[in-house]
Amino acid sequence: MKEYYDAIVVGAGPGGSSAAYHMAQQGLNVALFEKGNKPGDKNVYGGTIYRRSTQEAFPGFWEEAPLERTVITDEVWFLEHDSAVKMGFTGLEFKKPPYNKFTALRSKFDNWLAEQAKDVGAELYTNTLVTDLLYQKGFLASGKRIKGVKLYDGTQIKAGVVILAEGVNAPLAHQAGLRKKLPTNAFTLYTCETLALSPKTIEERFELESGEGATIGFAGFPTSGSSGKGGLWTNHDNLSIIVGGRLNEMVSKQLNPHHMLERFKSHPLIKRLLHGADSLEYKAYMIPKGGYSLMPKLFSDGVLIVGDAAIMISGRRGTDLAMISGKKAAETVVQAKAREDFSKKSLANYSHKLNQQFFMKDIKSKTKEKDYYLKHPDADYLVNSLMNEIAYEFFTEDLKEQNEKQKLLFSKVYQKQLPIKSFVDLIQGINHWRFG
Ligand SMILES: Cc1cc2nc3c(=O)[nH]c(=O)nc-3n(C[C@H](O)[C@H](O)[C@H](O)COP(=O)(O)OP(=O)(O)OC[C@H]3O[C@@H](n4cnc5c(N)ncnc54)[C@H](O)[C@@H]3O)c2cc1C
Repeated sequence: MKEYYDAIVVGAGPGGSSAAYHMAQQGLNVALFEKGNKPGDKNVYGGTIYRRSTQEAFPGFWEEAPLERTVITDEVWFLEHDSAVKMGFTGLEFKKPPYNKFTALRSKFDNWLAEQAKDVGAELYTNTLVTDLLYQKGFLASGKRIKGVKLYDGTQIKAGVVILAEGVNAPLAHQAGLRKKLPTNAFTLYTCETLALSPKTIEERFELESGEGATIGFAGFPTSGSSGKGGLWTNHDNLSIIVGGRLNEMVSKQLNPHHMLERFKSHPLIKRLLHGADSLEYKAYMIPKGGYSLMPKLFSDGVLIVGDAAIMISGRRGTDLAMISGKKAAETVVQAKAREDFSKKSLANYSHKLNQQFFMKDIKSKTKEKDYYLKHPDADYLVNSLMNEIAYEFFTEDLKEQNEKQKLLFSKVYQKQLPIKSFVDLIQGINHWRFG
């Protein structure tokens, strides 16, 4: 380990490894510190890797990256206690290059990303917790200039710039005064489980051929009447499932995350998907809700923040945003290095680069959505149960005349709540549910 690096990256998640890769590729001296035994150790869950956006940071990644299945089927299930309104799409085009998206297990995927950074010269140090930032003398708390990091064993390492890619909790970003304490409603808490199932059973159960994958998003029932959602991903020889809700509602309604997952698994239609699958891993995670007003200052003298640490998340999607923000931070640092100037002014271009990205508009629009669910926490439940009641009535074989049946269907809409409210709930839901 050297005493000085051009850049230090804290955290070998997708954001940190992408930043380290793009800086080392341009010849900078880079150290990448990861507190886990290996990159991805802290992220055991499975999820979606989006082809189009991920290739912005790692062109052609699908040729080599450890991906589980090529997603051809996306479904959304609006669940009630004994029924589901299902919506879905299967596109066989998605099985061909350049593909649409993939399922991946983050423990393998994150490790691969860090290996890419190592291959171009970044130094990866695992089992290495960064505990503090070092500040240049003469800079007061309000204008701290960062000049390096302190490790768990007291070692001090200096650097031109530090990139914070430490994930959702981001204690160092707080320490640097870049991030404020966020309210509980700014987070969702997800419980995740990985369950082993043979590839043959997965393919039969989800109507797939070898190598093909499916994802299912669930709204309504899984979160016990609160806002939130569930998800299922088919991996090669296991399934990943998650259920999560807003942290503030989980606390105020005393919802137990473990019970929520068990309740989801005990739903009669979910049981059929999981039948015979054995639990491999179980963990709980937080995801920032996102929204522009929650984002921290993205840079300051000698420091930049990427990925979840910067609340760079759209829906539940954040892996690709972290990789792109890591790349943009790296480009900014490479330019700053050419000037040998890592001041706030010199790093300001990072913000400009990010504002040109497709996801920033989404993030900027998120505040309104969050406010809606704070006022109407039962909106998801109401719209889901209405859909199921209407579907039951519509598909029930009876001896009613068509006019009578139509009246009955309309009466269902009016009985639940004002139809305009159901319509607004649905529109908000379409924005909020974004599964896959
Ligand atoms: C259940 C769940 C499902 C999700 N599904 C999807 C999905 O399907 N698609 C998608 O795009 N996104 C998904 N996300 C979001 C995605 O996981 C995050 O947006 C993404 O991981 C952010 O990457 P990151 O590099 O910013 O942070 P992280 O992935 O959190 O990585 C941070 C890394 O920093 C390390 N670290 C932290 N502090 C220190 C320190 N002080 N010293 C050294 N190392 C440190 C951690 O160990 C970790 O390895 C999901 C998230 C969850 C919780």
